[in-house]
Amino acid sequence: MRRPMMAGNWKMVCDNTAAVELAGGIVADAGQTAGCDIVIAPPFTALSAVNEVTADSPVALAAQNMYWEDSGAFTGEIAADMLLSCGCEYVILGHSERRGRFGVIPDGFTEELRSVFGDNDATVNIKAKAAVAAGLKPIVCCGELLAEREQGMTDAIVSDQVRAFLAGCSDAEFNAITIAYEPVWAIGTGEVCDGDEANRVCGIIRGVVAEVAGQEVAEAMRILYGGSVKPDNVEGLMAQPEIDGGLVGGASLKADSFCTLIQVAARN
Ligand code: PEP
Repeated sequence: MRRPMMAGNWKMVCDNTAAVELAGGIVADAGQTAGCDIVIAPPFTALSAVNEVTADSPVALAAQNMYWEDSGAFTGEIAADMLLSCGCEYVILGHSERRGRFGVIPDGFTEELRSVFGDNDATVNIKAKAAVAAGLKPIVCCGELLAEREQGMTDAIVSDQVRAFLAGCSDAEFNAITIAYEPVWAIGTGEVCDGDEANRVCGIIRGVVAEVAGQEVAEAMRILYGGSVKPDNVEGLMAQPEIDGGLVGGASLKADSFCTLIQVAARN
């Protein structure tokens, strides 16, 4: 049996005061929920302050990204050890907003800005290995664009992504990794992927994991769904056998809605 996980990605939302308040609400409401791993990913700047709130609770801390080097002249980057020193247990890697597949382009600028953060499967692979070597557990994201889905390319795109970011991983790395299937067209749009379809794609992902890492690793690996998960659609998603939890943006920014998601995940 895979233990469910509900992970909240706060993105670039919450100053330290708001982050501490939100974390406090989650710890108070859901901190004792058995049967589900609870993860929150505040902005880097709030990690230490939130750690003060979550430290003695079952709520685990994640970062939203990291760099693979240990230290050095990498202005603006964050190393795994720095995240560990802020209390992080997990790190989200390869989110579509970092892969440049879903960039926000300011007026007057061109499509080139889409790749402004520049993550891809190769960099995500290096980051995941560096994260595990340091003692962090990566939550690695994959998912197709709307145009790719419309052209019937979903299975191939997602399979290629998973094969590429798991390339050359050791057993220890496979065991530490959680995969999040996040169709890009469903992120932040309110348009959720149908439960049966999300389950089907998560099954494809598990098949790829079995192909590269063996059946036992695939059976043990958690695969989350992400993309407009809300209290009113979470039941149908969490009831699916291949879906082991959620990676949630908008609905993780209110303690009561996030706690509802946690409770539903814990029941499934
Ligand atoms: C996300 O940030 O990974 C996400 C899925 O966002 P939302 O739940 O808002 O679609």
